Amino acid sequence: MRVKVLGSAAGGGFPQWNCACGNCQRLRDGKFHGRARSQTQLAFMTNSKVWFLLSASPDLRTQMIAAPELCPGRGARNGAPSAAESPLGGVFLPSADVDSVAGLLHLREFQPFFVFATPAVRRILQQENRIFRVLERADPPVKWVALSSKGRLGCHLEEEPGAAPEFLCTTVPLGSKYPDYVSEELERVLAPEEATSGFVIHQGDKRLFYAPSISAEAALTSDSLKWRSWIEDSDAAFLDGTFWSDDELMATGRSKKTAREVGHTPLSGPDGLLERYPKNSKGRRILIHMNNTNPILDEDSPQHRAVLDAGFEIAYDGMELEL
Ligand SMILES: [Zn+2]
Repeated sequence: MRVKVLGSAAGGGFPQWNCACGNCQRLRDGKFHGRARSQTQLAFMTNSKVWFLLSASPDLRTQMIAAPELCPGRGARNGAPSAAESPLGGVFLPSADVDSVAGLLHLREFQPFFVFATPAVRRILQQENRIFRVLERADPPVKWVALSSKGRLGCHLEEEPGAAPEFLCTTVPLGSKYPDYVSEELERVLAPEEATSGFVIHQGDKRLFYAPSISAEAALTSDSLKWRSWIEDSDAAFLDGTFWSDDELMATGRSKKTAREVGHTPLSGPDGLLERYPKNSKGRRILIHMNNTNPILDEDSPQHRAVLDAGFEIAYDGMELEL
């Protein structure tokens, strides 16, 4: 399996257009030891030369143009809904957050592909956000595939009955908070466990784990055993690196909310992700979705050093892995 990081920052990117925190300001001034980053986006390819996206970043158009593998005319597609030239087979949506779904609008150019999402995420996009109906203009239209909140789905790229799936995807529930833009009326009828998901992509004996958002409740409750066991079993785990500390947004004047209140478990502290990370895991552990305020982005900072010393890598745009 090939994996490519097309973007590695949280919503807003780094630097963020309206932010003058220490990180953003020093980056603009050329006084920052670290990289600029676009909003989080992963792509993976299994055997058949068809690429799949994990998330649909607001930066998706420029990210795809910067990745030659994802450009059209690079080889025939197999079993996708049409004979279009794009190597894109489908998109997995981990949540209905703007930074997970806005990129779908970049894919609106009459192109059929699969969209994998929980029924709740699909309902938010289709019922309350009619702009996403633009995807239905393709002929055939995009195909929505339902992900059960704790289920496993086999992805077939061949039409032949009885053919083995190309890969499997397990959905791991990681948070019950829906985006603020969802109406109260709709939220009342949505299943909490369908709000935020992580994905395990299985191909042969290889496992890729993707969890750009891990809520405090998921990090601590008994369900956390489940995500932790998936990490132990993975060859590479991309993990919520949004915030270093719980009060980071308050300390930088960005918000009055804590990291946990906005749906992310911070990296540091006794219940932080570095501490909660399963000690037995053997695969690569890679932080992704870093907010522009996060001190680990600064390669001269003690927090950056602490993360590396704990055995973690920090994802960057253009990073590639072969599993
Ligand atoms: Zn900033």
